[in-house]
Amino acid sequence: MSDRTKVTFATPGSVIFGVKPIADSLMKVVQRYNIDFKPFYAPIKIDGANKRVTFKHIGPKENLCVVNDDGTPDISGAPDEITMNYDMLHLAPPQAAPKFIRESELVNAAGWLDVNINTLQHVKYPNIFGLGDVAALPTAKTGAAIRKQVPVLIANILHLIKNNTLDKKIYEGYSSCPLVTGYGKMILAEFNYKNEFTLIQNSNKCWF
Ligand SMILES: Cc1cc2nc3c(=O)[nH]c(=O)nc-3n(C[C@H](O)[C@H](O)[C@H](O)COP(=O)(O)OP(=O)(O)OC[C@H]3O[C@@H](n4cnc5c(N)ncnc54)[C@H](O)[C@@H]3O)c2cc1C
Repeated sequence: MSDRTKVTFATPGSVIFGVKPIADSLMKVVQRYNIDFKPFYAPIKIDGANKRVTFKHIGPKENLCVVNDDGTPDISGAPDEITMNYDMLHLAPPQAAPKFIRESELVNAAGWLDVNINTLQHVKYPNIFGLGDVAALPTAKTGAAIRKQVPVLIANILHLIKNNTLDKKIYEGYSSCPLVTGYGKMILAEFNYKNEFTLIQNSNKCWF
């Protein structure tokens, strides 16, 4: 339907994806579909009745830019606010831990369960461990990530019970996002805390 539609991808972030090889591939997809990519733009107002959405530029002024169709930045002066009509609007709502966790003593300043990012042990209470979406782990919150967190958490709890110390296993931030890019096409974006593009060897199982 690309001849009859106009697609805009606006993000408050500076890039389409935090892992460079994946971002490079996604920018090719953006060009292929003629998508208008707008970094540094956050949604601030939705007029549902009239189907209009307003985005505000939230980056530093010197970064005011739009990206041309060929992927090069155009710094000739993008507007501070953009209001556009839409037929379909897809937004990712802000994420938060459940209220009873957020209001407990277990969280960091941002409201997530305050665990060590490698051992998954709580930073204040050694008999508490955490994983999954609720945990303050600086990686994408996915089921794929949990799959790699579980063995570490289990090993550490068992080791703690038996020897009063933690196991040597650590979680390095693995997560993965299946990014559908067309009919029969997908980028399996796998990465870790260092935003390195990782690949599970002998991975013939599907977990999403
Ligand atoms: C649209 C969408 C698509 C996704 N696609 C993928 C994908 O393709 N691949 C992938 O790997 N991941 C994907 N994810 C992410 C994945 O679903 C989550 O990372 C995962 O489900 C988190 O598991 P969790 O057990 O940590 O939290 P949750 O699944 O959120 O489980 C928490 C549970 O706690 C319960 N709860 C909350 N408060 C209380 C309370 N007071 N008392 C008792 N219970 C309570 C909730 O009801 C819930 O059942 C997707 C997520 C979404 C929303």
